[in-house]
Amino acid sequence: MNLGTVLLDLLFPPKCPYCQKVLAEPRAPLCPQCQDKLPWLLGKMGERRVDFTDGCFSPLAYRGAVPDAVQRYKFRPVRAYCVPFGAVMAQSLQDHLSGKADLVTWCPLSKKRLHERGFDQAELLAREVGGRLSLPVVGTLKKVRHTSPQSELVEESARRANARGAYAALPEGNVKGRVVVLVDDVVTSGATMSECAGLLRMAGAAAVYGLTLAQARRD
Ligand SMILES: [Zn+2]
Repeated sequence: MNLGTVLLDLLFPPKCPYCQKVLAEPRAPLCPQCQDKLPWLLGKMGERRVDFTDGCFSPLAYRGAVPDAVQRYKFRPVRAYCVPFGAVMAQSLQDHLSGKADLVTWCPLSKKRLHERGFDQAELLAREVGGRLSLPVVGTLKKVRHTSPQSELVEESARRANARGAYAALPEGNVKGRVVVLVDDVVTSGATMSECAGLLRMAGAAAVYGLTLAQARRD
């Protein structure tokens, strides 16, 4: 820890991303109370099927204190949340995949949304996860069509139609023969993730695993 980090911690003491209380242990990804209370998905509970993936892993269910924390990260940009979120995601990936991955990538925002928000929340999570697990983080996809936010669409069929053809593989994102981890913040219908995973498979990926902070169930 360098002097700059110490000063920053004094000026802006790190808070628990879920309950926003100041952390007694500044480097912890969350407070002990949230550690006890959050809806963790253990073992098989944290795995879910998403078309074109070999499975999607998430450490948390999208309920309790999780949705508000994700919304703060996305819409009132609290960029720093990528660190504690990335920590529990990296742990989840280790638990489920134990070192089998070759590279980390993400489901990208459109240029328009990136401009509005100032950062791509999925990219920051991917960079955090890759950094923690010493895996290369590579942009492999781009969004070619601006779409309505998936959160505004209730029907699964509408979400699928909205995501269809919205992404394209980047020619420089070489995934041939590699085991790819595809990061996003939340998986709900899985429409975005399966669209992106399908493109990575067509580009020659040996396997694609999804990784999100949380999974929402629509039933
Ligand atoms: Zn907390």
